Amino acid sequence: MNKKILMIYTGGTIGMVPSPQGYIPSSRALYEQLEAIPDFRHPAMPDYEVVEFHPLLDSSNMTVQEWNKIGQVVADRYDEFDGFVVLHGTDTMAYSASALSFMLEHLSKPVVFTGAQIPLCEIRSDGRDNIINSMLIASSGVVREVCLYFNGKLLRGNRSTKRSSDQLAAFESPNAPILAEAGITIRYRERALRQPEEGPFRFQPFDELPIGVIKVFPGIQFSLFESIMTESLRGVVLETFGAGNIPSGRDSLLPIIQKAYQHGTIIAVCSQCPQGSVTLGTYETSKALHDIGAVNGRDMTTEAAVTKLYYLFSKGHSKEAIQSLMSRDLRGELFETEL
Ligand code: ASP
Repeated sequence: MNKKILMIYTGGTIGMVPSPQGYIPSSRALYEQLEAIPDFRHPAMPDYEVVEFHPLLDSSNMTVQEWNKIGQVVADRYDEFDGFVVLHGTDTMAYSASALSFMLEHLSKPVVFTGAQIPLCEIRSDGRDNIINSMLIASSGVVREVCLYFNGKLLRGNRSTKRSSDQLAAFESPNAPILAEAGITIRYRERALRQPEEGPFRFQPFDELPIGVIKVFPGIQFSLFESIMTESLRGVVLETFGAGNIPSGRDSLLPIIQKAYQHGTIIAVCSQCPQGSVTLGTYETSKALHDIGAVNGRDMTTEAAVTKLYYLFSKGHSKEAIQSLMSRDLRGELFETEL
């Protein structure tokens, strides 16, 4: 029997059409384009059904509610389909793929995010190849995790990050191997793929929570952040230099972080370097962060760290459990190395 794929169309460039205000998502355009592609009727293609978001979104407008909506659709239709393809804008696709990787517990079916840099309605669109390959991957029976397919490469969703606003190779996963490559055949790197965790599939929606990101830069005036680091801030991802370093001079972040930690705010330390890991304690400028209770985000992307905070808080874990789980590998989002 033919495999069945549920395509979840959330919006994004792939189905957009030109308008006087610039490109806007269009329901009609996607269906018309899919109809016009004979490959979709090729016997090698799986059967598919499309569900569509109302309204369709430019992914810059995605919120926690839309992550929950995608997760809920997968959960509601989980038993009916062999795999899921999420058509999504590229701008925040890595956030949504990371969010879904945490929300969908004990996932044993593929959820493949894809989209396009050029709309399907335009000549040279990359959307056609991206959808066809994503459908074939989602129906292959090989992959059982949340991933992102773009420009010939399959990446782990929570390891991916958007690297280019104008190249067709828009995504990379600098700290994790490519899961598959689409050349003449689709070649899977079996050893890089995750095995499903034991246990029944479960969907954990996210609560809307005050989570922040602070990117440090030379000369940053940390006192500006004092007013937002209150008890109501649940978690902060600190994008530091190199292996976890922050400026330690006159206007230091440390007392502000210390106060936030005492309030119960979780501070996760990630790096501005796309490749490599945070190792708190290599330098004096990072050891102090460790000493006041900041968590080592290791080699997580900011996208993964932000959505993991949402996940762990939404699960109702204690502060101590979240501190520890942020540095642990839950879905292949980080590589655990001990200091
Ligand atoms: N602004 C668009 C979006 O993220 C860009 C894209 O899809 O490539 O929805």
